[in-house]
Amino acid sequence: MRKRGRILGGFLLAALLFALLGCVGLAAAQKAQLNNMPVLVYDKTIGVEAYNINDNNYFKLRDVAQALSGGDKSFEIQYNNDTNSIYISTGQRYTSLGTELSPPQGSNTIKQAVSSQAAVYIDGVRAQMTAYNIDGYTYFKLRDLGDALNFSVQYDDAQRRVLIECAPLDTTPVPPPDTTVDRSDIVVMVDPGHGGSESGTVNKEMGLVESEINYTVAEHLGSLLRQAGYQVIFTRGKGETLSLTNRMNMIREVKPDLVISVHHNATEAHNATGAEVLAQVADKNGGPSTELAELINEEYAKMGQKVRPIVYRYNSTKTGDYYGLLRAAAGVDVTAVISEFAFMDNPTDVEKINSTAKLHQEAEALFRAVDAFLTK
Ligand SMILES: [Zn+2]
Repeated sequence: MRKRGRILGGFLLAALLFALLGCVGLAAAQKAQLNNMPVLVYDKTIGVEAYNINDNNYFKLRDVAQALSGGDKSFEIQYNNDTNSIYISTGQRYTSLGTELSPPQGSNTIKQAVSSQAAVYIDGVRAQMTAYNIDGYTYFKLRDLGDALNFSVQYDDAQRRVLIECAPLDTTPVPPPDTTVDRSDIVVMVDPGHGGSESGTVNKEMGLVESEINYTVAEHLGSLLRQAGYQVIFTRGKGETLSLTNRMNMIREVKPDLVISVHHNATEAHNATGAEVLAQVADKNGGPSTELAELINEEYAKMGQKVRPIVYRYNSTKTGDYYGLLRAAAGVDVTAVISEFAFMDNPTDVEKINSTAKLHQEAEALFRAVDAFLTK
């Protein structure tokens, strides 16, 4: 019995060795993870089959050719089966196979990518590019393709998108601090709308709670303001419940230089989109809160958000602002606005606020507007 056991063990060892050697033999194969990042070409979203291999994005050559076809970055592809060569001719219209731009469904697809041995020629000149073969198609590193074929590739980290031949991204999230202006005496009150037991609008489907996203934006805005040298006072802490009366009293007591209240919108019909800034009625025909609202709208527009008219709403007696926060601030001669960057109940707008990165972008826009207003 003992002897048999040893023989069996020997077989197992041999099998194990075989398996290990087998793995070494397949080392050229890489794990390719389907990449679901939205891809925009000429500012239009397209469906591509792209894979992430070793932290780089690989695109199907024919998808890129199809997406760029017709424009001045068009290129044609010819494949020579006998010599395993790919010929790319720039400036020529792409001849479609009809299989392009049809990404597979599903999100967790993992495939084997095998190093491509195909020779690539661009306008007759041999090109060196890392390529992989997945399911019989050749995939190239997108950046390599962009460099070789002279089209622009940008990664929009904030919105997690790939941009091909799109307008340049605004890569100045925070302006360089203007050191000639002393901000240390300026007090900004940042008010994250709702909070605690008061959730504000809730979009259950998307898992968005207004009080929470308000806080995320307000907190980032506050830290940007502090970094720039301002004194920042928050009306409430994270998850804290605070009544409108208490917020109004805080404004009256502190008398800050500016109050900015962060909210996100909703309507009963769930069909409205765009940013809305509420300003003080006393400035209806011009004045500080209108100026600030206009600066905020400019920044929101730069982010690609639709901008709605500035809202001025009177109380029932027409003696002041309907909104308590704006009314309390006006009462002590303090400029205040309420920002509603997007509608939480509309799919188009939800796209603009459904990640921390996007909410931070919103805060950066608010910061730029507030800083411009206070240092002008
Ligand atoms: Zn609100």
